[in-house]
Amino acid sequence: MIEERAAIKNLMFTREISSVPRMVLGDERRLRQVLVNLLSNAVKFTRQGSVALRVMGSPDAQTRIRFQVSDTGTGIAPEHLEIIFKPFEQLGAQTGEQGSGLGLAISRELVALMGGTLQVQSEPGRGSVFWFDIPLPAVDREPFPAVQSRGRVIGVDGQSPTVLVVDDHADNRVIVRDMLQPLGFIVAEACDGLEGLAQIEAFKPDVVILDLVMPALNGLDMIRRIRQMTGHDHLVVIVSSASAYPDDRIQSLNAGAQAFIPKPISRSLLVETLQRHIPWIEWRYDKPLPDVQSDHSDALPPETTLTVLSDLAQIGDVDALYDAIDRLKQDMPQVVSFIGKVQYFLDTFQIGQLQTFLEQMRARR
Ligand code: ADP
Repeated sequence: MIEERAAIKNLMFTREISSVPRMVLGDERRLRQVLVNLLSNAVKFTRQGSVALRVMGSPDAQTRIRFQVSDTGTGIAPEHLEIIFKPFEQLGAQTGEQGSGLGLAISRELVALMGGTLQVQSEPGRGSVFWFDIPLPAVDREPFPAVQSRGRVIGVDGQSPTVLVVDDHADNRVIVRDMLQPLGFIVAEACDGLEGLAQIEAFKPDVVILDLVMPALNGLDMIRRIRQMTGHDHLVVIVSSASAYPDDRIQSLNAGAQAFIPKPISRSLLVETLQRHIPWIEWRYDKPLPDVQSDHSDALPPETTLTVLSDLAQIGDVDALYDAIDRLKQDMPQVVSFIGKVQYFLDTFQIGQLQTFLEQMRARR
């Protein structure tokens, strides 16, 4: 998102992530909100040069991670450095771009809630640096409590998800096929990156699971090509590789993959990854949920509500969408499964995907 805005203004946008744990436990939504605000400001108040996001171990406190957003923009005068954090404060029309003046006030609060302090250093005419250090403990696996309590996945209901498996070893393709086909997935295969790209156009899968080392076109190049293709923005890309290089995961994600699964693939990790990234799949479990939720998992709010949500998604009003689903939680608890999906798209900033989902739900009503 930021990269696009920067590109429009001909600014360079760099990301640098160094010596941080591979996975941490933290408040993804708050952290994203703060970073999006700081980065949007950086792009907004910079006419030429660059915007950079750096993530690193805090130089001041070992257990903390530092997030730093710097720009080569207009900068902020020393006498204004405190004022900018006050609600509704804006420093005039330096750029002609309008904001709400609330972003930094909220960001400072959110950083405080996460256990840090939002700080700034700036030189007028040269640029600004905003940073904060927050504690984010390292964890070695993702927690999935809700899923585990429902027992083992035994199939999918509703629309069959489609998967393309791209691997030059037939044995590996068969392993994935044998895991997913019995659940009700439609599985296609390709034996290298080029064939994979052609299959994506022809077969239009919901998800691609691909190997990294392949002849013709390797996995990383294939991901980059996928991300340049039009009409496949919502395609979920999962890399599965046996490679021993820890960098492969980072490179895969940087190239545009959503997830990385080490080989040999474990069925439960594959299912968990699909659950995380394709929230519309209706999984069937061997132990049904004991409470009312399962009885209503298909329940949808009324047409008028869907239309309102859809309109809000079209204009990208994330705050109003959060408000709307908070109200819905109270008014219509029976649509909890629907609310969960909307919330997922919001939390992961997948507004395009949310629009598609809402359109599909409207069509279903
Ligand atoms: P908004 O961006 O909606 O105006 P913010 O609270 O995010 O509100 O920012 C408040 C003010 O702080 C901005 O109007 C701007 O004057 C100043 N500011 C924020 N970030 C930067 C930056 N990176 N460079 C220069 N000025 C900034």
